Amino acid sequence: MTNRRSFIKKSGMLAAASAIPMPNFLIPKTKRKIGVALVGLGYYSRDLLAPALQLTEHCELRGIVTGSPDKIPVWQSKYGIPDKNVYNYESMHQISSNDDIDVVYIVLPNSLHKKYTIIGAEAGKHVWCEKPMATTAKDCEEMITACKKNKVQLTIGYRMQHEPVTRKIISMAKSMPFGSLEKLKAEAGFRHGGGDGTHWKLHPELGGGAMFDMGVYPLNAARYATQMEPISVSARIENSRPDLFKVDETTYFDLEFPKGIIATCKTSFAENINHLRVDCQSGWYELKPMQSYRGVGGKSSDGQIFEPFLGNQQARQMDEDALAIIQKTQVLVPGDEGLKDIRIVEAIFRSSANGGKQISL
Ligand code: NAD
Repeated sequence: MTNRRSFIKKSGMLAAASAIPMPNFLIPKTKRKIGVALVGLGYYSRDLLAPALQLTEHCELRGIVTGSPDKIPVWQSKYGIPDKNVYNYESMHQISSNDDIDVVYIVLPNSLHKKYTIIGAEAGKHVWCEKPMATTAKDCEEMITACKKNKVQLTIGYRMQHEPVTRKIISMAKSMPFGSLEKLKAEAGFRHGGGDGTHWKLHPELGGGAMFDMGVYPLNAARYATQMEPISVSARIENSRPDLFKVDETTYFDLEFPKGIIATCKTSFAENINHLRVDCQSGWYELKPMQSYRGVGGKSSDGQIFEPFLGNQQARQMDEDALAIIQKTQVLVPGDEGLKDIRIVEAIFRSSANGGKQISL
């Protein structure tokens, strides 16, 4: 008969063999929470990640890395962060001797992700890095190498891959309730006013542009909804406000997958769009919105309604990633997943620079 110890051992082996988190009752109650330091205290850290870290079960906010001294007292008093857990970009490497911190979460402009991921990895800390992983495939590869070399986990902040309704869509690529997939449409974007034109998202040097910011959502969705890798891409860029946008404002890209499946994708800083639709042999399903902090929902051709998950998406993502550290299991969204997208983004830019030429992947 299976006793409790062998059951736990077997369950542990099972968890190690997959990315499925171990059930809560199997996690030793004495295990301390994973300590997270947020690197970059802009909009996403301030408004989404730090509040979500107050809701997490397996990790907590313990440190900050910032280049803005004025933010330090605000964050310290709001979140009780001690002086010894406050760093700037020059002193960040000293985090190596800080046992309070297990993870650095890189929430910086996109072209800075590589530098600070490598600093975190070399300091012996696990790295959570925001999407897009980086702005070149070469940078992504260097990030993966640095994390492997330092034996730390690297995960990319594709929060939708942790989100329950999205996970249902992912599982439908395998269960195929309406027969084989035929075509997809995936779109994500918003109307960006441009402000005074100085924000990094409007400039190429720091990895700005609609494709890096919002385009990775439809791109990643086309890949997760098919559970396939595209074999070619063609793309074009439109810019209706060239004085304001030194980057792509609207990017259209068509991905060709095996079996003749085409994903027609679009991202934009010019309009509010948010939709994933999958057409199959004998029916369809869709998410509208396909990505939203307030929950994603949808329906299918047979009348099913996909009710939104109303929990906190960032808390769920960080708890799952913290569990992967505690249990030493594979992360749900590894660096390789970010790299695959950025290789395709590079091909998208090559295609649009060459008049929409089809590029093999
Ligand atoms: P933001 O501009 O609000 O914050 C960026 C932070 O980086 C600021 O605190 C800024 O001071 C700091 N910074 C450090 N060096 C800088 C430099 N050289 N130039 C400009 N800023 C510098 O941006 P954000 O919206 O918080 O985005 C940060 C990252 O988070 C991006 O990679 C973005 O794609 C990602 N993000 C992800 C989600 C999501 O849902 N997963 C949502 C929003 C943003």
